[in-house]
Amino acid sequence: MQRGESIVSPALAGALRRALDAGELTVHFQPQYELASGRLVGVEALSRWMHPDGRLLSPHWYLPSAERFGLIRELDAALLAEAGARVAGWRRDGDDVTLSINISPSELSPAFAADLVARSRDAGLGPGALTVEITEVPVIPYAPHQVAALDHLLAHDIGVAIDDFGIGNTSLELLRRVPLSEVKIDRSLVQSGDPAAGDLAIACVEVARARGAQVVAEGIESRPQWDRAREWGCDRAQGYLLSPPLPADAVEKLVRRERLRERGTP
Ligand code: C2E
Ligand code: CA
Ligand code: CA
Repeated sequence: MQRGESIVSPALAGALRRALDAGELTVHFQPQYELASGRLVGVEALSRWMHPDGRLLSPHWYLPSAERFGLIRELDAALLAEAGARVAGWRRDGDDVTLSINISPSELSPAFAADLVARSRDAGLGPGALTVEITEVPVIPYAPHQVAALDHLLAHDIGVAIDDFGIGNTSLELLRRVPLSEVKIDRSLVQSGDPAAGDLAIACVEVARARGAQVVAEGIESRPQWDRAREWGCDRAQGYLLSPPLPADAVEKLVRRERLRERGTP
């Protein structure tokens, strides 16, 4: 589900086609931190369009057109190749960070899952390094072939995260049934002071625990939100308080600094 205004147009899809060919699509990474230790433990790759006019365009603008006009698969494949190579390099250097990517639920099929396993390997990502995030809203109910695709990913040590839990027609029932290894609690729950939002988050953590899945709290923008995510029992946190999505070189500096900190080098 996309938030805010977005345009779907063939003209935009045409421009995006040219942008893909011209290498204007790139990736930013948003760090994820372990709530218990404060360590940087992972990054989520987020697509960005560096427009020749100097603007950095958000995926809200172009993903709906990419989906509608058949470019999403190519866009996601290019992103995995770029992000995967980068994170595989960090991991080879001893930085134990994981990579999460977003995929479009409309793409989910056994053939897609098999292809993703191969592309993850091609990118140099070892077992357990990659997690695939899927928005839950459009995929209710999961069809058997989609469930088979998720099973295939998990069987090949690729994580499956249900993204944006808490918006739309959220269901704990879905979390009980669908193959998964992670749930991401949407920022609308994280940022809400409503006790009902807290109750839903706690129930989500409970279901995730029962399934052996980890929980990421998204959209952490303040210290009280970080504290609440810890109280709920979440494992990881992501949000502007910790870091916005950043270009690869900037995140690499954070990753390296983390390693030096862990080794006790000032
Ligand atoms: P998402 O997967 O839920 O990603 C999180 C979005 O929240 C990102 O927006 C991120 O910049 C933003 N965000 C992070 N921390 C905070 C915070 O503390 N406060 C607030 N208000 N926002 C925060 P972004 O990068 O604009 O991405 C929007 C959506 O586009 C993503 O939502 C994801 O569903 C989709 N997307 C992004 N990259 C890709 C991609 O490569 N492939 C596909 N299929 N979808 C993508
Ligand atoms: Ca996501
Ligand atoms: Ca999300």
